[in-house]
Amino acid sequence: MKPFPRAHFTVVMALLLALALGSGCGSAGVNKGDFNLMSLQDEWALGQKLAADIERQLPLSQDQAVVGYVNQVGQRIVRHTEMAQMPWTFHVVNDPAINAFAIPGGHVYVNTGLIAAADSVSELAGVMAHEINHGVARHSTEQLSKAYGLEILASLVLGQNPAAYQTILAQIIGGGALARFSRDAENEADVLGVRSMYQAGYDPRGMASMFEELLSREKRSPSSVQRFFSTHPLTADRITKVMAEAQKLPARGDLITDDPNYQAIRRQISS
Ligand SMILES: [Zn+2]
Repeated sequence: MKPFPRAHFTVVMALLLALALGSGCGSAGVNKGDFNLMSLQDEWALGQKLAADIERQLPLSQDQAVVGYVNQVGQRIVRHTEMAQMPWTFHVVNDPAINAFAIPGGHVYVNTGLIAAADSVSELAGVMAHEINHGVARHSTEQLSKAYGLEILASLVLGQNPAAYQTILAQIIGGGALARFSRDAENEADVLGVRSMYQAGYDPRGMASMFEELLSREKRSPSSVQRFFSTHPLTADRITKVMAEAQKLPARGDLITDDPNYQAIRRQISS
């Protein structure tokens, strides 16, 4: 058999590379056809490493009643997403700024300031469902894929690129998220969030009323919501879409708007 001519060899290598890259794309459900160079397994491993470093740098709450409650709301919502089988972790940050964020690999952070600002548990669940679905739709690793490319991502996962890793960690610590999400990513997290909070039994109108609260605070006191707005562009138009999405769902008499245990948690964080 004749050896492959060099040109053919290059074509074959290019095809193999395309196949390898293709396997990294989100292939099912909400991620079908999306460009993502990181496997789900690598994303979860990177998330573990980031979460360990965040724990050393952010003042995480050790109050088991507060963390336990937030975790319970989060796990309830997660069970109604495509990533119900993955291990998710919910953290509370002792920080009066109104913010919540998700990092790759199923770690979601909620500031005590957000809990203080969310008047009912359905409002808290609204922001959490939005953050959870940024994770389910893998928006952070999609952005990393566009920004860094295959080589740097592979070295990042293997722990061989401390400079890129420190840049990402600093962005999360300083900005409360990896990057500014696009309008499309925001709309996707809203729509998926409305559906999963409704299926979990929370009144999905809570997401719209929380967003209204955030918009009104942005007018009154922009610095209190600055980090949330810098990563999640929020407009009146988005709130209208969230309400329309919530109204498409069949009426249910058993949806939770508030819960006395939630109000007890809010008193606890403000004391
Ligand atoms: Zn968002």
